[in-house]
Amino acid sequence: MIGITSYGAYIPKLRLERMAIVQALSWYAPAIMMVADGERSMCNWDEDAVTMAVAAARDCLTGMDKQQVEGLYLASTTLPFDDRQNAGIVATALNLPSTLLASDFTASQKAGSTALLTALESVKGGARHNILVAAADRRETRPASFYEMWYGDGAAALMVGDSDVIAEFKGSHTVSYDFVEHYRGAGHRFDYTWEERWARDEGYGKIIPEAVNGLLDKLKLTMADIDHLVFPCVFKAEHRNIARKLGAAPETVADNMHGECGETGTAHSLLMLVRVLETAQPGDRIVVAGFGQGCNALCFEVTGAIADLPPRIAVSGYLARKKSTNNYTKWLKFRDLIQPETGIRAEAPNQTAMTTLWRKRKMLLGLVGGYCRECGTPQFPKMDICVNPDCGAHHTQDDYEFTDRPARVKTFTGDLLAVSVDPPHKYGMVQFEDGGRLMADFTDCDFEELKVGLPVRMVFRKRADDPQRGFVNYFWKAAPAPGAAEEMSRISFAGQVAVVTGAGAGLGRAYALELAKRGAKVVVNDLGGARDGSGDGSSTPADRVVEEIRSAGGDAVANYDNVATPEGGEKIVRSALDAFGRLDVLINNAGILRDKSLIKMEPANWQAVLDVHLHGAYHVTRPALAAMRAGGYGRILLTTSAAGLYGNFGQTNYAAAKMGLVGLMNTLKLEGEKHDIKVNTIAPLAASRLTEDIMPPDLFERAQPEYVVPMALYLCSDACDRTGDIFNAGMGYFSRAAVMTGPAVQLGSGESLPTVEDIADHWERINVMEGAKELYDLNAATMDLLTPVSEDAGTQKKPAQADGGADVQAIFDAMAGTFKPEAAQGVEVVFQFLISGSGGGDWSCAISNQTCTVEPGRHDKPTCTLKMGAEDFSAMIGGRLPPMQAFTSGKLKIEGDVMKSQLIEKLFKVG
Ligand code: NAD
Repeated sequence: MIGITSYGAYIPKLRLERMAIVQALSWYAPAIMMVADGERSMCNWDEDAVTMAVAAARDCLTGMDKQQVEGLYLASTTLPFDDRQNAGIVATALNLPSTLLASDFTASQKAGSTALLTALESVKGGARHNILVAAADRRETRPASFYEMWYGDGAAALMVGDSDVIAEFKGSHTVSYDFVEHYRGAGHRFDYTWEERWARDEGYGKIIPEAVNGLLDKLKLTMADIDHLVFPCVFKAEHRNIARKLGAAPETVADNMHGECGETGTAHSLLMLVRVLETAQPGDRIVVAGFGQGCNALCFEVTGAIADLPPRIAVSGYLARKKSTNNYTKWLKFRDLIQPETGIRAEAPNQTAMTTLWRKRKMLLGLVGGYCRECGTPQFPKMDICVNPDCGAHHTQDDYEFTDRPARVKTFTGDLLAVSVDPPHKYGMVQFEDGGRLMADFTDCDFEELKVGLPVRMVFRKRADDPQRGFVNYFWKAAPAPGAAEEMSRISFAGQVAVVTGAGAGLGRAYALELAKRGAKVVVNDLGGARDGSGDGSSTPADRVVEEIRSAGGDAVANYDNVATPEGGEKIVRSALDAFGRLDVLINNAGILRDKSLIKMEPANWQAVLDVHLHGAYHVTRPALAAMRAGGYGRILLTTSAAGLYGNFGQTNYAAAKMGLVGLMNTLKLEGEKHDIKVNTIAPLAASRLTEDIMPPDLFERAQPEYVVPMALYLCSDACDRTGDIFNAGMGYFSRAAVMTGPAVQLGSGESLPTVEDIADHWERINVMEGAKELYDLNAATMDLLTPVSEDAGTQKKPAQADGGADVQAIFDAMAGTFKPEAAQGVEVVFQFLISGSGGGDWSCAISNQTCTVEPGRHDKPTCTLKMGAEDFSAMIGGRLPPMQAFTSGKLKIEGDVMKSQLIEKLFKVG
């Protein structure tokens, strides 16, 4: 049996929103609006047909033995070299055997299907057993043309062979006509196109049906026997018409992918075929047609072997890995359709020495390094002496391919001065996980995405163009591994150990499940008593949650101790240390209710509630604190309630206990400070057995505990640098609650005692809360009381940040005063500052007509947005943190026009 044995695809990450083209050019060509839906795929500046073919071929070679490949057919009409075998570059980049037959197929849109058919017939003839077919195109189009809208960039690859066939080749039918609806003359950059209706009615509409019907006749099949009909056609309506003419049911017709990526030239029929193969079932019959100066129609039948094909990225994977942009100017630059100034640095000679390229071809095109036979150390480049200082063996290096080895960013730089099509030029050290490192350029990412430790994948790209000599220089670059940047910024508890009390139900269970899902090892504590704390308790609730965690692949142990006793608290923490050896996170969550108005509140009910909530938190936190101090890290979450923070009839015991926890936090935050132990408090609102008879039924339905989980887990994560704060959380709503203190008023002369009448006389002033502050601790509160503000200022001061945080408000208050109007001649710019952390907030600073306006809040159209933590911001403004260092260390993030941010130093007196 002969046929397709594997498939792969590649679609560049960048997608240009078609509306961006319309927005830029509809004043000139309003008709393009008709096809403006969706996005088209767009090569990065360093991608071309060769690099995309390499990427698709790598996908196709997943799980295959490269040494078995005996032929490589590359199809494209946009090959970088007219006379240098482009397939040879692809073969060298893939490290395929030098004994293979490499050939370029070109000069027609059906070259992809021609290469596939030629490969199938070659294998059928028995001369070769495995031929790799790759097709790729990056076609040039004139701005504001329909073709700019219709086309996309992409590649597909298929392995053709005579064993492990996943789609058996059943036959083909070809028609060849010199039908010219478009052409590209030799040496011309753009296609010349004839009228669309000519292409549609006389070309696609007649020639594709002729080839497909011819194939069906030959195979004695009808359209009813075909499960998938694959043919490209940029005209949406004509695509439907042709299918109708052929009698194909709409559900059997493969989508032409206009909305998601556009038509990818010679690759497109193969790309659409790969997409069909991704979901095809054994027994499915597929007809695929490639159009261009005639048409090739091929028929395949899917076999059972398709189920055994190892997973790969393919079309669906690449469609999902996308970054949409509406930056049409970037498109123009990447396509070299505009030539902005590049400076004299761009004139540096970049001639490639053919001698070196030949001698070092494996290294330069194949990323082949060395592997020491003596000590097993990989290195790049391969050399005569092993780099391992403990080895240093001579002439012991075997070839070692680095292309598919897992790697991470070790260092990185964004260089705004270096010549780059997409500044800043991003490069740095890449460390391979199995050993070996390499100084490489980074591609397919913004500078902000780069982080030390970020997993990367090596990709074959253009390093530089040499237009003078018509040469393209290729090398390997590092691109963030798919999903790696998101994964890096994902809040994780991997390697951490958490104790959650009262985790057998309600909120505690939800916290425990999510902590385990994010990698924590969890102690699920629950006494299993009644809602009011009565009864002997039960192991069932804790066991059930542990089972849930384990069956989802997590790690947890149960604990049934009572938080209300010192021994119980000790044992709960001991469970964590015995089972997992450390403790990083404690959530004090266990709770009961015994509601009664104070008159009816017997001491036992008062005591029981305080025992579980307030004393319980003390009993567990004390040994937990000791364990966290030993580890030099900890996150403690206490659970308060709106009943305590604000009051609720019939809950004096509960409210007292819950507010007592706030007092516990206020002091514990100070005691944990130097050990990196942060203590915060959550006031949840959630449906549970504690609230089932309190909450109105419709609210109860909507208030799932899972809505509280994000805040609780954030406060317990190492991403949280806050301590001593209270947060409300419920039903997707979040807010911060705080004890605020109004401005102090000094009564009496300072020598004489104030009188009761003084209080009465100044009652209104003492009650003023304008200018109220949060105060970090008792010392700050005492100092604040003893430094009263003047009578006027007391009522005018704006709310400020907690003492201990940076005085960001004061910086912005003073900013206009440090403005240098003489430096702002002709400058129109809006800086938006988003300052996070204690004392932070949003401020905008607009410079226009040599005046500076600073306002709180967000501006509609900032030129650039600067994001920073409050402490770092105050250090930068105070001259203690150089702005460039803040930027390169990631402390200062800038969005929008990065270059304009550099004006800040010029426009203001800093330091
Ligand atoms: P819940 O009753 O579903 O969960 C509390 C869990 O704590 C129960 O499984 C219970 O068995 C356990 N527990 C009780 N006493 C214990 C003890 N002595 N030792 C160990 N475990 C014990 O209630 P929930 O609503 O999930 O409440 C969790 C926490 O949130 C409580 O502290 C509660 O006061 C607080 N809270 C809840 C809400 C809300 O809207 N649900 C509002 C404010 C505060």
